[in-house]
Amino acid sequence: MTEGSQTGPETERLRTLSEEHSAHNYHPLPVVIAEGDGAFVTDVEGRRYLDMLSAYSAVNFGHRNPRLVAAAREQLDRVTLVSRAFDHDQFGPFCAELAELCGKDMVLPMNTGAEAVETALKTARKWGYEVKGVPADEANIVTFVGNFHGRTTTIVSFSTDPVAKASYGPYTPGFRTVPYGDEDALRGAVDGSTVGVLVEPIQGEAGVVVPPPGYLRAVRDLCTEHGALMLADEVQTGLGRTGTTFACEHEDVVPDVYILGKALGGGIVPVSAIVADADVLGVFKPGEHGSTFGGNPLACAVAREVIAMLNTGEYQARSRELGAYLHERLHALDTDTIREIRGRGLWAGIELNGLARPVSERLMDLGVLAKETHDTTLRLAPPLVIEKKDLEWALDRLQKAL
Ligand SMILES: *Cc1c(COP(=O)(O)O)cnc(C)c1O
Repeated sequence: MTEGSQTGPETERLRTLSEEHSAHNYHPLPVVIAEGDGAFVTDVEGRRYLDMLSAYSAVNFGHRNPRLVAAAREQLDRVTLVSRAFDHDQFGPFCAELAELCGKDMVLPMNTGAEAVETALKTARKWGYEVKGVPADEANIVTFVGNFHGRTTTIVSFSTDPVAKASYGPYTPGFRTVPYGDEDALRGAVDGSTVGVLVEPIQGEAGVVVPPPGYLRAVRDLCTEHGALMLADEVQTGLGRTGTTFACEHEDVVPDVYILGKALGGGIVPVSAIVADADVLGVFKPGEHGSTFGGNPLACAVAREVIAMLNTGEYQARSRELGAYLHERLHALDTDTIREIRGRGLWAGIELNGLARPVSERLMDLGVLAKETHDTTLRLAPPLVIEKKDLEWALDRLQKAL
């Protein structure tokens, strides 16, 4: 493993423990974080870093956001888990408030993003058979090249990333995968047995890939035309990251199903959900789907505060304004190593001519934490609470690292 130039004895001790006793399913930067505050984290050696990843947008509101910590604390002193066998006083309000944020009727809460995606896939199939009238076991769902929707066996079945997919077969059938951003390819894949089109409004893990203008609108129209559900995976794009509450808003598109996760838990607890109208989510009857932890009191209390914060519009506005500054500065960087800059709001994928890993490592040494995605893309997604001066500072460091 490559060593950062600043490792100390405590970092070494803890990294050795991780190295020897955790499965090596990640390749983290050589930093061991002990504390977080707003846009900053501090490692076990007392060094401070600006967090330009935000746990893949799960920490959109910053580390230990005071409003969210207060909501969690208050709920910790009341009740934290009852299972869905009983109702609790945070559940109804959480569902009503999230449905309202999405302009939909109903919510089905889960915990992780992958579970919410699975829930959306099950919803589309069930709706397809019971409402649309697709013959048994003939439903298909369209997905896209470069997709990332999580790590379950069904979800990796339609991954186009060999690293994520290899050796996990036999794979779940019923998926058709077409190039992202290609309207004709999508039209060719949708037919009478299509029950859903599962789309990221911007492909996050693929490297912040923004589809061509008009594409989401075309996906919406094709779904409507063929009576298929548009399933928008807004787990990473949603809840403020792109300068709007949902990335679908950039094309005035309303999907049939919103899939949410990451930032919904305020960086404190895993909370995910799908949100849709009653004609879709109404297909579920008792016992047909569920989760022990889904919709628990602590999760609902934190998510309700997240929703209240989004309802102010403040975070979306910060993302828009600081995002404009971020992209302007990125385009002005003086370097010949950048091939392309993509993104929207406070979110950027920087395509390099060479490997991105050494750049992440140099940035770390300069006090900025960012992470490569795939080999040649550097991703920037600072918490939406970042101060402009700190963003400026990070971009100066980026210039240096490049
Ligand atoms: C992160 C992510 C997921 C999976 O979320 P987990 O909480 O890691 O299971 C699904 N879809 C998208 C678009 C994501 O970015």
